[in-house]
Formats: sequence, structure tokens, C-alpha cells
Amino acid sequence: MFDVAKSLHDVMANIPDGVRLIAVSKFHPNEYLEVAYAEGQRVFGESHEQELSQKAKTLPKDIEWHFIGHLQTNKVKYIAPYISMIEAVDSVKLMREINKQALKNERVINVLLELHIAEEESKYGFKLDECREFLASGEWREMKGVHISGIMMMASNTDDEQQIRKEMMTASDFFDEIKATYFADDDDFRERSWGMSDDYPIAIECNSTMVRVGTAIFGPRIY
Ligand SMILES: *Cc1c(COP(=O)(O)O)cnc(C)c1O
Repeated sequence: MFDVAKSLHDVMANIPDGVRLIAVSKFHPNEYLEVAYAEGQRVFGESHEQELSQKAKTLPKDIEWHFIGHLQTNKVKYIAPYISMIEAVDSVKLMREINKQALKNERVINVLLELHIAEEESKYGFKLDECREFLASGEWREMKGVHISGIMMMASNTDDEQQIRKEMMTASDFFDEIKATYFADDDDFRERSWGMSDDYPIAIECNSTMVRVGTAIFGPRIY
């Protein structure tokens, strides 16, 4: 078995106060999560609804689950009763559905707006102007079941560190812009979720408050 406890501690040693580690456990078996849990890890990221629901049913109830992948609107109802944060809100339609399901469950669900900054077309998320337009519309202010806690992005999958840094700083500058414009009075609008196994040290230098690390903790995923 992969030494999850050691890897987790190696990663944790690189993470300063003020940055939260999301242990991305997708495709890994419960026993791996249980090792991380025993070491004190409480926040886990998953990106498939069925897998998440199975894990949430069997693992300890004080785990905070973050949904980090692309979420189809028809799956929202299954996770709405218990999800702590939906990190990758990439459309207004999804936001409306989260609001509806949150209200049904008498909850307020924390979400992050996913930005599409990377050059790869395959990635999801709002373009910066789309995000500005959505915020300017004010519709989100009426959504009492949703709290926007910040933004999330994935940098391009490249070895070019300068490129990664540039994209993360674009996201960081955008965060500052919308914080000042719309969320200046909301202390709970503060999350910047970027950084994965290969680039989380750069992300921390680029003002990340949440890194989503899978492989460096749990080893390679077996699909
Ligand atoms: C899988 C995944 C991660 C973790 O990736 P690693 O390279 O294994 O650390 C982070 N964020 C998202 C959105 C993911 O889907």
C-alpha cells in the first residue's frame, strides 16, 4: 500500500498557515482516506457524484467534502444535503440549481466560481468577462441558498512555470477586483483555490488559500 501518512505529512510540511489543504481522493479507496483521516485530515475533494456519495455514506461524518469537478445540474440534488463546498461552479444554470436544492434542504451551500484562464479549450469555467457580467447582473444576491466564498481555477497543464505563474496571478488580480467591487463587506469571501500536486508551491506564492492535492498524497490514480 502507498504510504499515505508519510506523503500527507510531506505535503503538509510545505503548506503555510492560512492555506488549507484539500486532499483530492477521487479514484482512491476508502482505506486511503481513512489513513489520511487518522492523521488529522478532514477536508477531502471528489469529482464524481456517485463515488462521493458512496464515500460520504461510509466514512466519518465530520469530513468536509468539496466537490471539485465539473458538476452536472441533474446531480446537484444528490449532494446538496451534505456537501460543504462546490468548488467548480462554471455556469449560471448550475448556480441556480444549487440555490434551488440548497433551499429545499434548508441549507446555504458555499461555492466558488470557476474561472477559465488556462489556454486549453477543454477546461471549464467562466471567462473573466462572463464572470464580471454575472456578478454585475446581481442575480446571485437573490440566491439565498448559495454563498459565494471565492474563486477557483486550474492552470494550464504545462512545465512552463512562468505560464502557470502568469495564469495564477491573473486569477489573483481578478479576485482582488471582484472582492473590491462586490464583496468588500463580506469577510467570508476570501477563498482562492488553485494549486495541484505539480504546481501547489507556485500557487501558494500566487496567493492561493486552498490547494487541491491528490497524487502527491495518495499516489497515482488507478482509473
Ligand atoms: C484531480 C484534481 C486535482 C488533483 O490533481 P493532482 O494532480 O492529483 O494533485 C485538483 N483539482 C481538480 C479540479 C481535480 O480534478
